[in-house]
Amino acid sequence: MDFKELILKEYEVLKDWYPKLEMPSFGKYYCSIKGVVDLIDINGNKWDTYSIEIKIPPTYPKEIPILLETQGKIPRDIDWHIVNKEGICCLGTDSKIYRELQNKITIENWFKKFGYSFLANHRYRAETGKYANGYYRHFNDGIVDDYKELFRLNSKEEVVTYIKYILGKKTKSLNTNCFCGSNKLYKRCYLLYKEKHFHNIPEFIYEKDLKKLQ
Ligand SMILES: [Zn+2]
Repeated sequence: MDFKELILKEYEVLKDWYPKLEMPSFGKYYCSIKGVVDLIDINGNKWDTYSIEIKIPPTYPKEIPILLETQGKIPRDIDWHIVNKEGICCLGTDSKIYRELQNKITIENWFKKFGYSFLANHRYRAETGKYANGYYRHFNDGIVDDYKELFRLNSKEEVVTYIKYILGKKTKSLNTNCFCGSNKLYKRCYLLYKEKHFHNIPEFIYEKDLKKLQ
């Protein structure tokens, strides 16, 4: 299935959930889905409405879409998780998105889990003064925080070392315990079940993050 077919097929599913999203348009650099999303409260009533654009790179699903809030309803401020004037929303780190979607990304599951909840979180904060799910840090600090939590590490240096082990850029002696904390020997853990150490995060994301953190 080529890119266009895939997007059109996924759009059909997305549209069932968010009927005010328009047909995808295919540009030179990315595909764009524009429209309006209604937030629904727990009683099933309309809570608020946001204008959005989803930009999907031609490398999708290897690389993930970008969400923009196009109305200017959310302040153009990193404190509100908006990255630039265009309205790009900071949905969380790549590692977290791939991991939570178990590296099986569709536009619908990505939007539902990260896009819609981003908008709902904004609405909640606008109303109550705080986010429902707490704050998270941005840029490299955010990347470090996510890996620290995932691998139960304490510092950026430990995160860098851990990622090097995952990528096989750093090795252990065969008869010592694996870096992952399984209490199995390195040769019987990482060397046999390398992919289990990736936690559904693709190799190129580790490579990208390692470059940022070094
Ligand atoms: Zn291991």
